[in-house]
Amino acid sequence: RRGASLTDLAEKIGVDPASLVQVLFNLGEMVNATQSVADDTLQVLGAELNYTIEVVSPEDEDRELLESFDIEFGEDEGGEEDLAPRPPAVTVMGHVDHGKTKLLDAIRNTNVVAGEAGGITQAIGAYQVATEVDGQERKITFIDTPGHEAFTAMRARGAKSTDIAVLVVAADDGVMPQTIEALNHAKAAEVPIVVAVNKIDKESADPTKVRGQLTEFGLVPEEYGGDTMFVDVSATARTGLDELLEAVVLTADASLDLRANPDMPAQGVAIEAHLDKGRGPVATVLVHRGTLRTGDSIVAGSAHGRVRAMINDQGEQVTEAPPSMPVQVLGLTSVPGAGDNFLVVEDDRMARQIADKRESRQRAALLAKTTRRKTLDQLFEQ
Ligand code: GDP
Ligand code: MG
Repeated sequence: RRGASLTDLAEKIGVDPASLVQVLFNLGEMVNATQSVADDTLQVLGAELNYTIEVVSPEDEDRELLESFDIEFGEDEGGEEDLAPRPPAVTVMGHVDHGKTKLLDAIRNTNVVAGEAGGITQAIGAYQVATEVDGQERKITFIDTPGHEAFTAMRARGAKSTDIAVLVVAADDGVMPQTIEALNHAKAAEVPIVVAVNKIDKESADPTKVRGQLTEFGLVPEEYGGDTMFVDVSATARTGLDELLEAVVLTADASLDLRANPDMPAQGVAIEAHLDKGRGPVATVLVHRGTLRTGDSIVAGSAHGRVRAMINDQGEQVTEAPPSMPVQVLGLTSVPGAGDNFLVVEDDRMARQIADKRESRQRAALLAKTTRRKTLDQLFEQ
């Protein structure tokens, strides 16, 4: 177990903790009986004592923790008949200055779901827009924190927050190092990509060149017989935006099965969180499945609380958030991390118990890291 101490291990295998301290001491490692020890140290110790020590990954460990409360995280309850379509969640990525922020702003101000542009007074870190595709109104959720760092940080925590990546490439600049980086991150996450060839209003724009460049990296435009949609846009002139939204919807329809059960306790991911002077901890969450309601008891990472109020991307209070709807949640007792999963549980007590367990585990893991003295290699060198 991550963060286990020698006392924990001694108890498991029925020996005197002091003898384990001694064995490690003989191997050149000074550890007291109660401090957390690193995974590899435990494994060395296990090998010495002819025990196989299994190190459980944090994800597995968390799954076990939730299972002990009879909660399955990451699965829709029920069967096929309980699933309803949900909008895709989109992250905008690309090289610095290629227009990610401008594009996100342009889309937000042009296609707000309800009400007129300017209705958004309060940025919540994500927003939903609507567009018409084949005579049907379709929603898309944009995660308003561009940059693949955030994307990667979330993925490192096992959070799947993005269904589709919009890769922005400035048509005057072409493919740049961070374009490739972003592309690789999206590929690693197996997230389909739509390419927005931006700044086509510029004299020096060469959108054909961008297509050629990206083809070399495996993103072959549909018009060249590939399966990636490229859309020419200008974030400043606000051209091509509807086409871009349509491409996102079509790509989602073609390669993803985006459905969720709206009738279960909500689960999802915290995409941003901070401490607000007046309102306390504020977290923007994206609901993956279920419906989040005010009054729900919630755990987000090692934060917990009861949903006191929810605010949508227009700055309005709402009482319900269905799948793929981003909302700001008030009522947590502390600030979760970006990428932490969130889930609704039976009551406040359960929420607190899960949060407390996660917190003590995090503390132990941190301690194990800082007290690690020697790596496995160093031990074997001796
Ligand atoms: P980011 O670093 O990718 O978020 O890029 P920004 O959105 O901050 O844009 C970088 C610069 O490019 C800004 O000066 C924008 O005004 C400009 N820019 C963005 N989109 C366009 C566009 O479509 N056409 C032109 N001409 N300039 C743009
Ligand atoms: Mg930016």
